[in-house]
This record gives sequence, structure tokens and C-alpha cells, in this order.
Amino acid sequence: MSSNKNSLPLHRDLPVADTWDLVPMFPGAEAWEKDFAEVDRYSAAFIAFRGRLGESPAVMLEAFEALDRFERFAEKLYCYAHLKSDENTADSENKSRLGKIESKFAEVSGATAWFEPEIMAMDETKLRTFLDAPELEFYRKSMEELLRQRPHILSEKEERLLGLGGDVLGAAGKIFSTLNNADLTFPAVADEHGKKVQLTHGNYIKFLESGRRPVRKRAFEAMFDTYGKFRNTMAATLDGNVKRHVYSAKIRNYPSALEASLFSDNVPVAVYDNLIKAVRDKLPCLHRYLNVRRKAMGLRRMDMYDIYNPLVPDYRLKVSFEQAAEWVKAALRPLGEEYCAILEKAFEQRWIDIHECKGKRSGAYSSGCYDSYPYILLNFNGTLNDVFTLAHELGHSMHSYYSNRHQEYHYADYSIFVAEVASTTNELLLHDYLMKQNPEPAFKSYLLCHLADEIRGTIYRQTMFAEFEKHIHELGERSVTLTADRLCKDYGKLNHDYFGAVIKKADHRIEMEWARIPHFYYNFYVYKYATGMSAAVKLSRNILSGDPVKLQDYLGFLKAGDSRDVLDIMKDAGVDLSTPAPVYEALDKFNEVVGELERNC
Ligand SMILES: [Zn+2]
Repeated sequence: MSSNKNSLPLHRDLPVADTWDLVPMFPGAEAWEKDFAEVDRYSAAFIAFRGRLGESPAVMLEAFEALDRFERFAEKLYCYAHLKSDENTADSENKSRLGKIESKFAEVSGATAWFEPEIMAMDETKLRTFLDAPELEFYRKSMEELLRQRPHILSEKEERLLGLGGDVLGAAGKIFSTLNNADLTFPAVADEHGKKVQLTHGNYIKFLESGRRPVRKRAFEAMFDTYGKFRNTMAATLDGNVKRHVYSAKIRNYPSALEASLFSDNVPVAVYDNLIKAVRDKLPCLHRYLNVRRKAMGLRRMDMYDIYNPLVPDYRLKVSFEQAAEWVKAALRPLGEEYCAILEKAFEQRWIDIHECKGKRSGAYSSGCYDSYPYILLNFNGTLNDVFTLAHELGHSMHSYYSNRHQEYHYADYSIFVAEVASTTNELLLHDYLMKQNPEPAFKSYLLCHLADEIRGTIYRQTMFAEFEKHIHELGERSVTLTADRLCKDYGKLNHDYFGAVIKKADHRIEMEWARIPHFYYNFYVYKYATGMSAAVKLSRNILSGDPVKLQDYLGFLKAGDSRDVLDIMKDAGVDLSTPAPVYEALDKFNEVVGELERNC
């Protein structure tokens, strides 16, 4: 972590070779402005089809193509503006460029909203003849998807009323995020050096990662005592949001809020339920891991704030970027020659913006559009964690590269459901590679802990959240009001189910944890983290088996974009997520890692 942000160089003063190359997208600000002036022409060309879609399959085809051209053009402008802005978020030229394209997007988003409703309003027999029309073959999947959704679309008048009520229906979620992000403040807490630091959402995890127990405990208490003061308001916003999901599901003829949410990915409810059952069956592995931690930390009694601190806190290996790149390239070699040749381009063509600099956006991401490189933003500081981040983001970028090359624009963007699979697979390959290099004991323990914590956080924790989400929506469906007492009691019980075998009497404050999880407002989102990680465990194992057919199946997944249903894509890739087997296998892997950790710690 660099301590003094003021001493950092500006982006323009960094060695060019260490920055991303945005020139192939736009040679400069003028070229961007020139294209920006064209946006309205593209949107007008599309809007001209309004009210005409039913004329003939040929007209419908032209409309689809005009929409794709418009979106593809606008996305490139947006992508450049946001990447450029992230180089230095304080730069006024960057800010104004981003603001300009954002308001343009807001302006034109109304201009595209009519398209899908107009198709869905078509007479069913007519729509079916369009579906069979050879001209529309390419767009058939999109049209079938609209047809699938049709039983859940209401009359024009009803949809209009719902549309007009959007802000009202979203109020509970908005109030929560305003309270949580803007108004809620936490007290100052003494850090490891006794210095009082104001607790924030951002630094809370740093406190919990402290090797010193009193520091962790203080932060934990301050965090949940603060939420405790707002427990009734927090319960009211969550209750309102759950009721919103329940209401929407009911009026749109879905059997439950859960089914309404899974419908968009065409994922059966059994996938969700199987995940919960498998994780519950494998809770003894989590308990085994918690006991390893407890012993390694020399604690007689463990509490909820003793779970996030790294077990090998002092392991500091400084890795240069060159070394990191070398490790990652070597680790990804099992993905085959073609993959590795493309991977070289990431470095040669400068997809990556490596260093921290003044005003640069923090964290790391992979981002791009159909007509750009799949860029990567890093804030590389040479920790081992940064090496894993490099492998992770390259996983995203390679997935985008393959999908963009093998799919037309319309089907290139992969679904959120599979978005973390390629990135996590790469991390697992890196883990395997580094373990095979026969690392010294501390390095080895670090690696084992890193993987165990990743699986614990992604599969166990997110599934526990998924279970809570299902529970509170079922209460909502039975018209039970989610009061603070009810939420605390039920969350405390669930927490006890997961941790009680080791943490027999957890600090009661953990009962308030439901209040600080924004994901509970996302409408059944978190289970995708757990299924994605389970898929990655299976796929990395397939890749490492050396079986060329399995490798081709995996590359097929990278190439598939959004061209088919997600479960079908994953099945062809080599992992059947419609059964709980991948979750069991992933947690068996977790158990293996914990076993090794037991021997190493
Ligand atoms: Zn990611």
C-alpha cells in the first residue's frame, strides 16, 4: 500500500510501456468529439422504425440492426470516456467528457425503450411467422426470449402505470442506500498503533484483517453498535424492498419472488435450493477450517471477528510486475498455445494500466467494449494478492476477447451468471502452479489460506446470504412484516447454524449483520457468486487434467458470449450446474485445502 498519495506521479508522467494504450480506440480527444457529434444520427436512424416493426420481417431485421449499430457506436464512446476518466478522476477534461456521454445516454435511453414492448405487443401468430422468417434467423434467440417473457408482461395500460410508479417502488432501496452511504457515520476506533481512525465501510475490512484481536473486536463492536441504533429504520427499508419484489412477482404471475428473479437467466429454482442443501451438508468442512484458524491463532474461544485476518499475516513477498506476469503466463500454459499467444498480446499491445498514480481509480477491473482491447486497470503494489488480481482480471479480459472474436456484437456480452467463472478459473490455475513450484513453508501456508478464504467467502458466506434472502422473501409472501426483532432473531439463528459448532456463543452483535449487506436489495444476486466459484473449481480441474477435449470444451465457453442459455453454455463447457454435484466437488476441494493447512500450520 502506498502511504503517501501526494507523492505519486501523474498518469502522463508514467513510463508509457506501463500504461494502457487507448489510441487504437480513439487517437485523441478530437477524434472522440467527432464521433460524439454522430450519436444523434445513429439514434435517429433507429427511432425511425418506431411503430413499423410489424410491417414485415425485413423491416424488423433492419430495426434490430439499426439498434445494434447505435448501441455499439455509443458504447465505444462511453468506454473511452470512462477509461480515460479513471486514469485521473480529478482531471476536469476527463470529468466533462464522461459527464457529456452520461447525459447523452440518459437522453437516448428513452429513445430505445419502445423496442421490446412493441415486439411483445405483436399478435402471437404473426410473431411466430416472423420467428420462422429466414431473414430473422440471427435474431431468433432474442425474439424467443421475448416470447418467453410474454406471459409475464401486463397490458399496455398496466405497464404504463407500473412504469410511472418506478420511483415509488424503488424508494425503500434508495432510502437504504442514502442512509447507508451518505448519512450513517461510524465512530473513531483505535488502530494497531493506538491511533484513532474514523471507521468507514472502506476501512472496516482492514480493521478485521488486523493481526491484533482487540483492534478487530473494537471495529466489529463499533460497526454493529452503529447499525443497532438504526435497527428499526433498517428493518423498514429491507421490509419495503422485499415487499416490492413480492408485489412485482405477484402481479406478473410468477409463483414466487425467487422464481421471478431466476426467470431472467432461465435458471430453475432447484439450482438455488440444491446449492443451499449442498452447502449445509458440507458445513462440517467449514467447521474444520474454523478450528484450524482457532488453533493457529492460539484462541480458546473464537468469535465472528476472528475470521478475516490472514493466518500468515507477516508473509511479505515483494513481487515485481515482470515476475508477476511471468508467473501468470506460466500458470495459464495449460490453457493451450492459442490462449497463450493471445495472452501475450495483453502485454505487447498494452491492455494493462499497471501502476497507482495521482487521482487514479482505486482497485482493479477488466473493461472494454466490442471495438476495443479488453483493458485492465490495476493498482499494482507487488503483493501476492496483486499477482492473483492480475490472473483474475486477465481471466475476464480473455473471456471478453474470445467472445468478441467469436460472436457478433449482438450476442457477445456474456451474462452476469457466468461473469466470474473465467476469472476465478485463472486464479485456481495460478494457485496450482505456485503450489507446484515447491514454495517455502510460509509461502505455501499463505497460498493455502488464500484459497481457503476465497472458497469460504464465496461459497459458504454467499450461500448463507442466499438462504437468508430466500427466507425473508418467503416471510414477505406470507405477509409477515420484517421487524428488527424478527430479522435479528432469524439472522442470529442462521449464523448459529453455520458457525455454531465452533463459535458456540457468538457476540450478539452479529445479529445485526443483515442491516449492512447491500446485496439483500439486489433481488437474489449473491447465489451466482457461489455457483460461479463451484463451476471454476470443476473447470480448472478439467483443464489441468490435460485432456484436449476438455480444454476445447472450456475454450468453447470463452467463445460463447451470450449466444445460448447460461446453463447450456456451462454444461457444454464441462460443468452441469443443474445438479448439485459441482458444489459438492468444490467443497471437497475446500476440505482438501483445509487438510493441507492443518498439516502446515
Ligand atoms: Zn472479477
